[in-house]
Amino acid sequence: MTVRTRFAPSPTGSLHVGGARTALYCLLMARNAQGQFLLRIEDTDRKRSTEEAAEGIIRDMKWLGLHWDEGPGTENSDVGPFFQSQRLELYHKYMNQLIESGHAYEAWETTEELGAMRDAAMADKRNFRYRQVHYTPEQISRFKAEGRTPILRFKAPNHDIVIADEVLGNVRVAAEDLEDIVIRKADGFPTYHFAVVIDDHHMGITHILRGQEHLMNTPKHLGLYEALGWEPPRNAHLPLIFNPNGSKMSKRDKAKAARAAARDAAKDRGTKTYEWLAEAISWDLDELNQFMKKKYDGVKLAEAIGAYLGVDLPMIEVMDFRKGGYLPEALNNYLALLGWSPGNDLEFMDLQTMSEKFSTDRVNKTAAKFDTVKLTSMNGEYIRQATPERLMEAFQDWLQITGESHFKDVAPERLALFLELYRPRMSTLADLDKQAAFFFEAPTGYDPKAAKKFILKGGGLERLPELAEAVGAVSDWTVEGIESSLKAWAEARELGMGKIAQPLRIALTGTSVSPGIFETLALMDKDEVVRRIEACHAALA
Ligand code: GLU
Repeated sequence: MTVRTRFAPSPTGSLHVGGARTALYCLLMARNAQGQFLLRIEDTDRKRSTEEAAEGIIRDMKWLGLHWDEGPGTENSDVGPFFQSQRLELYHKYMNQLIESGHAYEAWETTEELGAMRDAAMADKRNFRYRQVHYTPEQISRFKAEGRTPILRFKAPNHDIVIADEVLGNVRVAAEDLEDIVIRKADGFPTYHFAVVIDDHHMGITHILRGQEHLMNTPKHLGLYEALGWEPPRNAHLPLIFNPNGSKMSKRDKAKAARAAARDAAKDRGTKTYEWLAEAISWDLDELNQFMKKKYDGVKLAEAIGAYLGVDLPMIEVMDFRKGGYLPEALNNYLALLGWSPGNDLEFMDLQTMSEKFSTDRVNKTAAKFDTVKLTSMNGEYIRQATPERLMEAFQDWLQITGESHFKDVAPERLALFLELYRPRMSTLADLDKQAAFFFEAPTGYDPKAAKKFILKGGGLERLPELAEAVGAVSDWTVEGIESSLKAWAEARELGMGKIAQPLRIALTGTSVSPGIFETLALMDKDEVVRRIEACHAALA
């Protein structure tokens, strides 16, 4: 049997790290067995699905290097199309089959009637499970006359369902907990539960890997497989991903953080309303008010608020990490370990190694905690290990999607020198931009402690003008040339290099931190160095 796995995102937002981990495990499992990995876009929720989100997911999967064997854009497959909205005929065929076999029926209740049924169950302290309501032909004619459109429901099996889960073991769901699920909505589209079953079967999927949040959906799907007379794929439910504080990691976290920031900002302004914010970010005030009342968690709105108020929102989506300067290989490696381990303390692995080692036996049952600190340190390690070409490529990619950077117009040859100089010091690509900012902007002040220790004490201040002269006199402005001139100058004055390097750092950066002083100097313009030394002397004298 050829192993076939699939990642089946709903395009209702961009790819978040939980989805990326699912996609990664599906890919690893398929590669491990020389099978195929498929991508299918589940866009049957017409209200929430967007083309933009589908494109974003595809873009992020490509960036991560999670290449699908069959899916959007591949031509070698006879099981497509891979957008569910293009497969409606197939779904209708099986809806009709289920109606004919007596497994599906039309249901007529309005949302209000269903609500009342749910309330009645609650009042009786029962769990509400929808079961078929039989209406007379007269009632049905009346419903039609009222303009109601029926939905289609699937009759739940009247026996318990056992999920033989590859991670969790057997999970039993009692017959009385199964309800007659909706398989066709009023708009004629199938529900997720229905389309997923039809497609997994028709696409020859052998293993379904998905998050544990779907565990209680699986019995519904197994009921459908039974009624259709199909062998179900194997299931593996992956552990949830939590924030370090133990809450479930979710896109809502961004809304939460933005809301808190907006509330604080309103307080500072002494107001409880948000017209000022709506105006500043050009957003509809009603929608913003809904957002503030937690009725709506839009990520774009959260990001607009975050950007305007200058607060960093939690990183949740793959794009957040890309913008943050993480390497896809580091993110994949970290995500692989978030719920799985290959054993033997093996940590650093490329996709090839991961896929050789992967099996669902070593996937954890319990939730994993997302640890940004660990990811960041892993990213730093990947940066240090990258070939110069890879580091350059990754940085150029980051430059392209980041808003502002000092390096936007720096020529590749020069950028390569920066990358090599900062490689040991960077944990993210964005770090280079921050740490090397002083190359582009002269300091506006000097760290008083450092200035006191290295300049104001021990004759450093008096030496600055001479040092400026010495620097100006260096004829060979290369790392070696600068080093030999300045060393000779220091020796002639019986000064240790520390007496020169630290004052220089302060003059150049405003702090006592920089990479090797000769490398740093060589990357700057000589006249600019002289100017900064003179400015430092003037400021501290
Ligand atoms: N479209 C579903 C989702 O994005 C897929 C779940 C599944 O893998 O079946 O949550």
